[in-house]
Amino acid sequence: MRPRGRGAHARCDVGGKDVQENIQKNFSGAASPVAVQTSAVTRILVVEDEAKVARALRDGLGAEGYDVVLAAAGEDGLSLAGSGGFDLVVLDLMLPGRDGIEILSELRRSGDPTPVLILTARDTVSDRVAGLDAGADDYLVKPFAFAELLARIRALLRRGRPEPSPRLALADLQVDAAGRTATRAGRTLALTALEFTLLEFLLRHQGQVVSRGMIAREVWNEPARGTPLDNVIDVHIMRLRRKVDREADVRLIHTVRGVGFVMREGEP
Ligand code: CA
Repeated sequence: MRPRGRGAHARCDVGGKDVQENIQKNFSGAASPVAVQTSAVTRILVVEDEAKVARALRDGLGAEGYDVVLAAAGEDGLSLAGSGGFDLVVLDLMLPGRDGIEILSELRRSGDPTPVLILTARDTVSDRVAGLDAGADDYLVKPFAFAELLARIRALLRRGRPEPSPRLALADLQVDAAGRTATRAGRTLALTALEFTLLEFLLRHQGQVVSRGMIAREVWNEPARGTPLDNVIDVHIMRLRRKVDREADVRLIHTVRGVGFVMREGEP
């Protein structure tokens, strides 16, 4: 257990009216060179162009024991993220130059599975869906409470460290839970970290209908949340289904109207 800083308990809205302030493209600490990685420390890359928000995140996360690297521009963020060595990326969507969605898309196209939490100033469904479609694992709408950011970060980091587990299979779908790989008819599925966890959860409950509430609790680690996760879960199920079922003869992931989802061979 890492030492707790006071930041976890203080309510501080991050990124509120600051969003309206002038954008500073360069500020102290931006895109600092990547230090030699030490495996004991969790490293977080923060891509955020607003200096005040970036500093607040660096200080707050630093107080929690995280090793934080800041990038103020999209290009710097992309090259740092692509260099590997980060356990998580906090990515602002509105950035000068290449925006957060472009960076995220590029990162995922290159096959980088690092968990990404996006920050968006606009609370619109289309923004959130665009971010999740581009491969984000979670999002927060500005302004947000620092304690909530910490909770989301912890959940994403937990997700990346699964318990060792045996092989799981259904029809020609094979999942290696320990190796975090999945194949369908011998073809490797390119899944994000979150999609993999979702698939593993569905597969462990194969033949059993699981509700969105169960998924929110078990996959997102969130028993209760201010805004329901239903839309987020539906988007991820849709993306997962596209990858698992689209090129196969037999569908494995099924929607049970009004209830949730079930994974089984053939129609439910
Ligand atoms: Ca911004």
